[in-house]
Amino acid sequence: MTIIQDILKTMDYGPAPESPAIVDDWLAEHADGFGHFIGGAFTGPSALFEVTNPATGKVIAKVSQGRAEDVDAAVKAARSAQPGWAALSGHERARYLYAIARHVQQHSRFLAVLETIDNGKPIRESRDIDIPLVVRHFYHHAGWAEILEDEFPDARPHGVCGQVIPWNFPLLMLAWKVAPALAAGNTVVLKPAEYTPLTALAFAGIAHEIGLPKGVLNIVTGDGETGAAVTGHKDVNKVAFTGSTQVGKIIRRQTAGSGKGLTLELGGKSPFIVFADADLDAAVEGVVDSIWFNQGEVCCAGSRILVAEAVAERFEQLLRRRLATLIAGDPLEKSTDVGAVVHPVQLERIRSLVEQGVAEGAVLHQGEAPGGCFYPPTLVTNVQPASILATEEIFGPVVTLTTFRTPEDAVSLANNTRYGLAASIWSENINLAIDIAAQVRAGVTWVNCANLFDAGAGFGGYRESGFGREGGREGMRAYLAEPRPKSRSSESDLPALKPYPSDPVAGGTIDRTAKLYIGGKQARPDSGYVYPIAGAKGNSGLASLGNRKDIRNAVEAACKAAGWGAQTGHNRAQVLYYVAENLAARSAEFVDRLISFGQTKKAAESEVETSIRRIFWYAAQADKFDGAVHQTKSSHVTLAMYEPLGVIGIACPIRMPLLGFVSLILPALAMGNRVVAVPSQTHPLAATDLYQVLDTSDIPGGVVNIVTGERETLTKTLANHDAVDAMWYFGTKDGGRKVEEASAGNLKQTWVEDGAARDWLGADGQGRTFLHHATQVKNIWIPYGE
Ligand code: NDP
Repeated sequence: MTIIQDILKTMDYGPAPESPAIVDDWLAEHADGFGHFIGGAFTGPSALFEVTNPATGKVIAKVSQGRAEDVDAAVKAARSAQPGWAALSGHERARYLYAIARHVQQHSRFLAVLETIDNGKPIRESRDIDIPLVVRHFYHHAGWAEILEDEFPDARPHGVCGQVIPWNFPLLMLAWKVAPALAAGNTVVLKPAEYTPLTALAFAGIAHEIGLPKGVLNIVTGDGETGAAVTGHKDVNKVAFTGSTQVGKIIRRQTAGSGKGLTLELGGKSPFIVFADADLDAAVEGVVDSIWFNQGEVCCAGSRILVAEAVAERFEQLLRRRLATLIAGDPLEKSTDVGAVVHPVQLERIRSLVEQGVAEGAVLHQGEAPGGCFYPPTLVTNVQPASILATEEIFGPVVTLTTFRTPEDAVSLANNTRYGLAASIWSENINLAIDIAAQVRAGVTWVNCANLFDAGAGFGGYRESGFGREGGREGMRAYLAEPRPKSRSSESDLPALKPYPSDPVAGGTIDRTAKLYIGGKQARPDSGYVYPIAGAKGNSGLASLGNRKDIRNAVEAACKAAGWGAQTGHNRAQVLYYVAENLAARSAEFVDRLISFGQTKKAAESEVETSIRRIFWYAAQADKFDGAVHQTKSSHVTLAMYEPLGVIGIACPIRMPLLGFVSLILPALAMGNRVVAVPSQTHPLAATDLYQVLDTSDIPGGVVNIVTGERETLTKTLANHDAVDAMWYFGTKDGGRKVEEASAGNLKQTWVEDGAARDWLGADGQGRTFLHHATQVKNIWIPYGE
């Protein structure tokens, strides 16, 4: 018999295993295999594949491999259920979501054990983190359904949502996707990951149990091919994906030109920054919660520790000491800290990446782990910033440690990645921590904390970590279709421009040609060519024929003008008011210019007048369109900051050459972006005249860059350019598709519209939609209260 003295010798916990009996019974009942959940019922099992418990290697279930026909049947069920579901009042939908939340709560032990057996994560985490967050998500979104009409007037759902989720938080990722989709009035076809489909199937049972109308939720199991059938289905209106950046890019290309809504929550390589004045013990626990949580299979895991040189040795010592105390082993054991890796394939990936790192000179410090599908918690030192371990998402319990000297170093190391999902910052100097939070390019930033989540705060990335948010108001907006402009039709293809030799030119010389506007200066086009602009009476002037090189120069100038985004909204507003006043002072010239293109006096006056009003409107918005403070936890608040995207490429419509240009560049500028704009191809001179106005209005050089020429050619260079953060394109349907396809390169955000006929003079030409497109939300978590 163990006596107290024995226990005191080691202070070890006794075993406290969670019983799997409840789940074993359920699995035994389904020993013949699971079908898909389509139209409110399970299909018969077919084309079965095995699902294993990674901790034991044992097969625990057989699940159907979804074929294209299954996906089609699910989409049809979702389509036919959607109008009825959307026609319910928000209150009625809310009641279903409340019922789901309550039933998940009632089955929480079952779901936690099932998740642990299917995924390998410690029961402590599935019980205390995953399932409670699932419940919270459904309650929160029940609330959104209730108040949807008040909070999002005129909003309408997308229709059918195709959702594909990964294996690291199987039920939680389902909740993040299903709850807002249903709250908004969409119906769903969801594909869980091949390794972890079981809690989604159990959830389908809950949907059935609460009487969710048939077809509102459909679950099709299978592998990547099934996923591709969901995301590529022609009758799916919105695609939401969480998974690797590689597959995210495939989906971006696959959905290009389809008009489907798209949100991508992708990989990360998030920095964990420890300043010299940080509470080092707390920061060590932060690392535990960051990278040794969920076996490091966390997209936002702080997988790169950047520590101030002055405390690096001490911090490493503390961390290694803590590492040695972590218990890796049976996920069902309540004292386990690190469970099993999801699958031998993933284990192999972790091993192989670590081996490559070691070959590059990295030094490993590892804890203990049993044999089988387990990987020991690992700290890696002597890692160069270019090492594979510092650049690749490992998705395992492996963290690198690198030192920095100054806060500037820390920021530059933190941002030295193609990703931008999260960052964790540790310092007792709150000024410093918040200053760094502002400079780190990441969608979620935790100050003196790590891996905190709440349904009330948005989650999602910058750069190649994807776009769109899940959770919070912005997450809700992602499940609502944007108000469609009342009138829109595609522009027809434009003929290629015929360059004239620059010298001599009939009707003028190159010196009288409108030049490009790059970095605050007029610039001759690299090609030396110009092209004639048709007017009411023959040619009304010559414009420069810009090319790839001009676009590259313009992007470079825009990149250098980053200070614009750091200015206060008030300062930007002052500059923009000045632009409006200066345009007003010269309005007669602009009216004449538009008349010279063949417009009537009345139409020209109306276009100029509306342009001036529009500039005032966006100037007024510059210090008003802002974020929110979420009360996410009793001890934290979350600041949802609207940040500029960076450099936006803008391809303007042909019509309304002044107003179309102003309507697009102004919201971008008001929110702190820099732009490289391609004005109306046929009548760019109204836009190039504006650079005299910009010059006299204190717009810093490089904030607005204007390159005239062939819209499609110039757009292609912009859409492919890695330093361009977003691309807006208002032209042909085919042009829009090409922009979306090319944007997959660096996953730039796109806004494409075959919108030549958007009514730029009316309400469709201005509004908050434009401002939303010009911003992304960074959620900064800071300690607040007890
Ligand atoms: P994937 O991105 O391949 O998988 C995510 C989901 O997408 C799964 O349901 C998968 O199905 C499905 N899928 C795969 N290919 C396609 C496709 N062409 N079209 C539509 N859906 C598709 O991630 P993996 O599971 O393969 O993991 C690979 C690596 O990705 C990991 O090692 C990790 O580094 C990273 N990863 C990152 C995640 C994140 O949230 N950041 C999450 C998961 C993985 P199936 O499961 O059947 O393959």
